[in-house]
Amino acid sequence: MNPFDLTGKVAIVTGGNGGIGLGMATGLANAGATIVLAGRNQDKGFKAAASLPGKASFIVTDVTKKADCARLIAETVALHGRLDILVNNAGMAIRKNPQDYTEDDWHRVMDTNMTSAFLCCQAAYPEMVKAGGGKIINIGSVMSQMGAPHAAPYAASKGAIVQYTRVIATAWAKDNIQANSILPGWIDTELTAAARTQVPGLNESVLARTPAGRWGRPSDLAGIAVFLASSGSDFVTGAAIPCDGGFLIRS
Ligand code: NDP
Repeated sequence: MNPFDLTGKVAIVTGGNGGIGLGMATGLANAGATIVLAGRNQDKGFKAAASLPGKASFIVTDVTKKADCARLIAETVALHGRLDILVNNAGMAIRKNPQDYTEDDWHRVMDTNMTSAFLCCQAAYPEMVKAGGGKIINIGSVMSQMGAPHAAPYAASKGAIVQYTRVIATAWAKDNIQANSILPGWIDTELTAAARTQVPGLNESVLARTPAGRWGRPSDLAGIAVFLASSGSDFVTGAAIPCDGGFLIRS
């Protein structure tokens, strides 16, 4: 038996209509899972779903809204009869000095990166219990562990999601639900494209500090997503696993 086979499993990937989310969704689809992508941009969403092998669909969702998160889970179960895998990947950043953030900035980042995972996990939990277990993958960042001058709400949200993941991993282990975080390093996506052009020296410093000697690609996240979504990781829970080309271990 292939421990990484996801045939018959149903997976939701928030923010799966582009970037890292689509990289992970492609890995899950290639491993046999039926995929539901969630995000706000419909054009990107329908195109992304069409690019995936197997059964894949897109559900318009704003993950900062509790009703949308509940509807996402309910529609997925109505379409496919079950939910086995939830990837909380939707995220954003606002770059400012800590003293310059507005309260609205703060809440936008926290709501998108952290509260969204809380809302989706709460809605998904009863469905995973019904399915006899489940896999939750929350997307942190190297900023879950490090600091940076222009990342106050981003780093706070990414630290929080790792701690939240540890809590649900302990609480829901009895239900055969494993919850883990992935900490991506610097990956070439729309999120980092602006910073790469706007922040002098960023490109060079990422290349110098990353032992792999390159930026990551969304497809670099596919393997770890499949591992954490599959029975191959049934004894792995509450972990925060870097996928960063060695960025975090470099002094
Ligand atoms: P992208 O900007 O390419 O993708 C972000 C995704 O999140 C989009 O698909 C977007 O879709 C979705 N999203 C944003 N806000 C919402 C919302 N309110 N409701 C639903 N979906 C939303 O970024 P990345 O692929 O780079 O980032 C993905 C995740 O990886 C994020 O959590 C990010 O913090 C994390 N990460 C990224 C790193 C990198 O170097 N790129 C490094 C470490 C972590 P739409 O606009 O259609 O809603």
